[in-house]
Amino acid sequence: MKGKDKFIRKRSELIVATKNKGKIREIREGLKELGLRIRTLSDYPNLSEIEEDGQSFKENALKKARFYSTVLGKLTLADDSGLEVDRLKGMPGIYSARYSGERASSRENNRKLLTEMEGIPLSKRGARFKCIIALVSPDGEEVVAEGTCRGRIGFKEKGRRGFGYDPLFILPKYGKTMAELPLKEKNKISHRGKALRKLRKILRSFMDQVVV
Ligand code: IMP
Repeated sequence: MKGKDKFIRKRSELIVATKNKGKIREIREGLKELGLRIRTLSDYPNLSEIEEDGQSFKENALKKARFYSTVLGKLTLADDSGLEVDRLKGMPGIYSARYSGERASSRENNRKLLTEMEGIPLSKRGARFKCIIALVSPDGEEVVAEGTCRGRIGFKEKGRRGFGYDPLFILPKYGKTMAELPLKEKNKISHRGKALRKLRKILRSFMDQVVV
């Protein structure tokens, strides 16, 4: 590889510290215009995973981004996100991925949520998605961006796009669930899309700073 090519390649590399395919799709789309070379944890199958034992989305996002940026020596982005339901005092929150048990499927988590919400009328089914994205550079610079999106918990799953709780998350303005929106539309209004927009500018400056 020639010197100049090496420079271009290296400066535009970003690790997205997740194996979650839904998150990866949305993050790739949200950062598309930056022309980054994105790697995910699926590209490093032998890397150990860390425990998400923080008490907040922010703690978990920072923990993941710090860990992988240190281990891989590369600019790393980590997303920690989840669903906070008003009636359930903010649950499942940071436990969203494992609401109905370790390694639970989205189906199982959604079923549990529907059971917990049984008998509650639509007007009292308010909820929000929350996303914290942490960006950590190998020399220890850190940036955190947040995004939220409000909606209501439906009475049954609807839609096949997105991932996780999307089929249960009704967007009153659209009269649709998040799982009925195409990826680009979801990114325009979602918690993750909002956090990514805040981060794009900052990411550009990080990219410019990396020197081979
Ligand atoms: P994390 O990997 O610990 O951040 O867990 C994220 C979990 O929150 C996912 O497994 C989903 O259950 C839920 N979640 C986060 N973002 C979304 C989204 O955009 N749509 C649906 N569910 C989401």
